[in-house]
Amino acid sequence: MVKAHGIHHITAIAGRPQENLDFYTRTLGLRLVKKSINQDVPDTYHLFFADGEGNPGTDITFFPWPQMGEGRIGLGVWGEVSFTVPHGSLEYWERRLKAREVMVEPIQERFGERVLPFYDGHGMALSLTESDLAASAAFSPWEKSPVPADSQIRSLGSVRLTLGDPQATANFLNGSLGFENKQTDGKWQRFVLGEGAGGQRVDIRTDPDIGRGGWGVGSVHHVAFRVKGEEDQLQVWQQIREAGGRPTEVIDRFWFKSVYVREPSGALVEVATDGPGFGVDEASDTLGEKLILPPWYEGQRRNIEAALPPLEYDPANLGDDEDLEPAGSAAAAHSDRV
Ligand code: ZN
Repeated sequence: MVKAHGIHHITAIAGRPQENLDFYTRTLGLRLVKKSINQDVPDTYHLFFADGEGNPGTDITFFPWPQMGEGRIGLGVWGEVSFTVPHGSLEYWERRLKAREVMVEPIQERFGERVLPFYDGHGMALSLTESDLAASAAFSPWEKSPVPADSQIRSLGSVRLTLGDPQATANFLNGSLGFENKQTDGKWQRFVLGEGAGGQRVDIRTDPDIGRGGWGVGSVHHVAFRVKGEEDQLQVWQQIREAGGRPTEVIDRFWFKSVYVREPSGALVEVATDGPGFGVDEASDTLGEKLILPPWYEGQRRNIEAALPPLEYDPANLGDDEDLEPAGSAAAAHSDRV
């Protein structure tokens, strides 16, 4: 069988686009690598945040729909999204997030790794996982990030899903995409692709009382898994059909080609090709700075731009750590006095 080889991108629903942009660039230090539109709802932005070059597997994207109600994690809706970060960086991150009044939970251990759970400004459940494997993900630092390169987010790590009965979804992940169920930690089962590196993990919890989830602000819209090219994509499409799934036809997203299918509990899955990639229509040093439309929307550019709210974004001025109190500075000042 052809196996997917990791998470390609994750797309979620945000509230106001300016707040979304500020959180992911100024607070998390990711790069806006593409400012585009929702290709099915062109009066909505589609904002793409990733590492310095928009490598596949580093990319979280948003449809800002502030008029929607709050999302709800549950049956049919993906849960928390984790990013990988280098070992020893969680204390930096904890200080950084708290200094910006981000809602942070205590650092905890999952599957033997340290994890810092937190929420973005629109209530989306996120976490940072310190991982050996963070070093192995394809990653390009971003020199304009307000986060120092040695602490920058390395890749998407994993995504969570809670199910009443995991069997059908397990069969889908394993039979259609090539996952294996290798590890258990308490109530959580980890399904991995390949070596289970950053982006190669889906964590599933069983809860017979789980209620139906709902799309809304702060919820994941879909999780896209990577395939190398169009041949592999067709093969995975076949595997999904043979397992009883109903995938869409191949849709050209311009930066990659996509197929969509709901896994058995209803959560939306995309299977996306690695290429051609975000550099195909703009220079890599100015990624994200102007509104990019797929060619078939160019004729409507003026109307589309007029319908979108203005966004302020200056990659040369994303703030730095001046407002962050260095660790132990209060104690140091005190010891100076005594
Ligand atoms: Zn997608």
